[in-house]
Amino acid sequence: MSSASFSSPVVPRLRVAPSPTGDPHVGTAYMALFNLAFARQQQGVFLLRVEDTDRTRFRADSEQQLYDTLSWLGLDWDEGPDRGGPFAPYRQSERLTTYQPYVEKLIAQGHAYHCWCSPERLSAMREEQQRSKSPVTGYDRLCYGMTREERATLPGFQETPVVRMLIPDEVPLTFTDLIRGTVQAPRPDDQVILKADGFPTYHLAVVVDDHEMGVTHVVRGEEWISSTPKHLLLYRWLGLTPPVFAHMPLLRNTDKSKISKRKNPAARLTWFRERGYLPEALVNFLALLAYPPAKDADGKDVEIFSLDEFSRDFDWSKVNPVGPIFDLGKLDWLNGMYVRDLSVEELTARLIPYLQADGLFGPSPSLGEVARLKSLAALIQPRLVTLADAPDQLRPFFVPDADLVVEDDARASLTAKNAPDPAGVLDAAIEALTALPDDENVDLGQVQGSWTHDRIEETLRAALVTGLGLKPKFAFGPLRVAVSGRRVSPPLFESMEVLGRGATLRRLQALRTTC
Ligand code: GLU
Repeated sequence: MSSASFSSPVVPRLRVAPSPTGDPHVGTAYMALFNLAFARQQQGVFLLRVEDTDRTRFRADSEQQLYDTLSWLGLDWDEGPDRGGPFAPYRQSERLTTYQPYVEKLIAQGHAYHCWCSPERLSAMREEQQRSKSPVTGYDRLCYGMTREERATLPGFQETPVVRMLIPDEVPLTFTDLIRGTVQAPRPDDQVILKADGFPTYHLAVVVDDHEMGVTHVVRGEEWISSTPKHLLLYRWLGLTPPVFAHMPLLRNTDKSKISKRKNPAARLTWFRERGYLPEALVNFLALLAYPPAKDADGKDVEIFSLDEFSRDFDWSKVNPVGPIFDLGKLDWLNGMYVRDLSVEELTARLIPYLQADGLFGPSPSLGEVARLKSLAALIQPRLVTLADAPDQLRPFFVPDADLVVEDDARASLTAKNAPDPAGVLDAAIEALTALPDDENVDLGQVQGSWTHDRIEETLRAALVTGLGLKPKFAFGPLRVAVSGRRVSPPLFESMEVLGRGATLRRLQALRTTC
């Protein structure tokens, strides 16, 4: 048997490498998802590395937000700054001594050089290149080949140098991408790899860390295609084996522009949670961006699937490199599907934080409040789009009767053309419902005996449709306005059942006194 038969196959190691520069970007979750799907399928490892070398854009609270949002989405990592691992530390700012020998080696080999040009000189140089429409752009190599003393005699000198790569004329500009095949990138500039503040730039740190952390597949956004030749040069100069590269397409707005946090609230990952999207719906939505739906046995599209199902069938060749449109309408649809799939208990539990955020619930809602929410959750579940839509729909059921606000359009509907006299409708409803036996138990949100939506409906139909000869639309409109203050509300008779007999009659009477 040859020795190769004994060698164990390499376990794929993938990573997501966000920079903590503010609210996490939805693209971070997108990258995490595709990395994780493949890592899981291959029984590999998925690690989280915090790339915090840009100290000017660093935001201290951002790292925790990254953990919170990715955990919320169930995009769990095996190694990371918060959970350690064999290649710790996983925060680049804690790895400065790791990068140093690599920089020294590159300088010693002549592949990198010190540059003392001040930022002012560099921007003046760039302006001049633009003004003169110079065919040569990028750093003009003023410092290349100079000692510090030589350079110090020239203008635009700064004390602490940066280190730049010396990009050779024959730099290879093509590389193989797992998604795109052969990719052509533009010629790079003499990239800074070590900054004056002693921190490496992304380009050096990403190569060193991906190597040191045993990363086998670098799956990242397409904005890094143009950097890949620089990274491949670094791998070559340092004598390291490069990983496989896969550049995912950039997510685009409906007008095809790149999704940015400045222009689109949906670029912020925390927005989805605030807006009440279910994490499993968002993961499903992201999985469908640039990736085709699965097929069922009859060849029909299956658009709803779990992360496990996605991982099981995952295939790089199916990723479409054309920037997918980020269509929130599709997410709304998916979210609704997931909402309807929840048990009422689960939906109730998930709604509580949204009612708390809205102020409808305090920090510890009572059993009665939760029971009432559960009855209402069942009523709104068929049409609910996001969890954050719920508090407004449910407000009428959690305010004291005296505080119920009758909205202007609802009040106007009472006197609309062809509408019957609301006073007559309300009087008849009050009389009929007063006659329904009082055996409710409102406090526990439990309704027994006569005060059921069936009995309420039967009673009101008899009184208003049969008795007054009204069309149902006209008969029930004023009642809806009375109990909810709205023209649109959860189903009327069920709403009355949840409110209970006392509150229902009080609200009908309250509107009656204003008609
Ligand atoms: N820190 C980079 C970013 O946030 C990571 C790019 C990469 O995955 O290599 O975009």
